[in-house]
Amino acid sequence: LKSVEKKFAAKSAWFQSKQFVHAVNGVSFELNERETIGIVGESGCGKSTTGRCVLRLIEPTSGEVIFQGKDITKLNKNEINQIRKNIQMVFQDPMASMNPKLTIREILSEPLIAHKIPRSEHEKLLSETVKLVGLSENYLARFPHEMSGGQRQRIGIARAIILKPKIVILDEPVSALDVSVQSQILNLLQDLQEELGLSYLFISHDLGVVEHVAHRVGVMYLGEMVEIANKEELFENPLHPYTKALISAIPKTDPDEVKERITLKGELPSPSNPPTGCKFHPRCIFAQDICKTSKPEIREVEGRKVACHLV
Ligand code: SF4
Ligand code: MG
Repeated sequence: LKSVEKKFAAKSAWFQSKQFVHAVNGVSFELNERETIGIVGESGCGKSTTGRCVLRLIEPTSGEVIFQGKDITKLNKNEINQIRKNIQMVFQDPMASMNPKLTIREILSEPLIAHKIPRSEHEKLLSETVKLVGLSENYLARFPHEMSGGQRQRIGIARAIILKPKIVILDEPVSALDVSVQSQILNLLQDLQEELGLSYLFISHDLGVVEHVAHRVGVMYLGEMVEIANKEELFENPLHPYTKALISAIPKTDPDEVKERITLKGELPSPSNPPTGCKFHPRCIFAQDICKTSKPEIREVEGRKVACHLV
């Protein structure tokens, strides 16, 4: 970003009057075959930006995204189209991500046409895929508004898997749905993962949802990854103070379970003017003097990764 800033700054007063946000900075993680990594954090922490960078819907200014040995950030348009066949995305609001004038048949045909799948194979793929997501072929003739929210999200998922991708990026896939429908969709995603051997990058602000589906979890705060761990370890023994606070805020169903609730101080700081040192220090109940001046790097601790001076 620095080089872009310099290039424009000299020319434009408008540019100088603008503030710039490093929406994502220094985030690094791996996603294995058939694995779900959950990315959690408050809104504005850079979860969606991270997901979009993987698909190059947003061009990262630096860094690498390695898929099957190739750095996606260095591919040309043609090559990136090939990759997109293997990495698909499901969005939060299926209604907003579908053209309301198209039937489900037309919506699901779009990726087939875009990736030049022979016409003769379309019908089979369409009927196979709607059945895979738990709907019948009758739905192909419907319009998005003739379906419930849950059914529409099934179509959103069908559109993502129709090309048999390796990775599906799920950006808050159940946040817009009723709680009863959420679990149906989460179960469907788990079934599809097993059946099709998918890897998921599961983005959510809801830790309960992530606990249900993820194998590993990455916690983001103000554009940075602060902790990455196996789900069980993270939920049973969170190491980073921010993770501790998030997990202590999950409502428990067992009234006898005694739980210490960690309340965060203050509001999420503006990403355009982040705090110095550890970005979490103004809200951290464990903050020391060093936290205000020195940024903790993410490092391995007992087989997981965490960015905190005290861990
Ligand atoms: Fe809190 Fe300091 Fe750790 Fe940051 S580095 S999370 S301020 S204890
Ligand atoms: Mg988002």
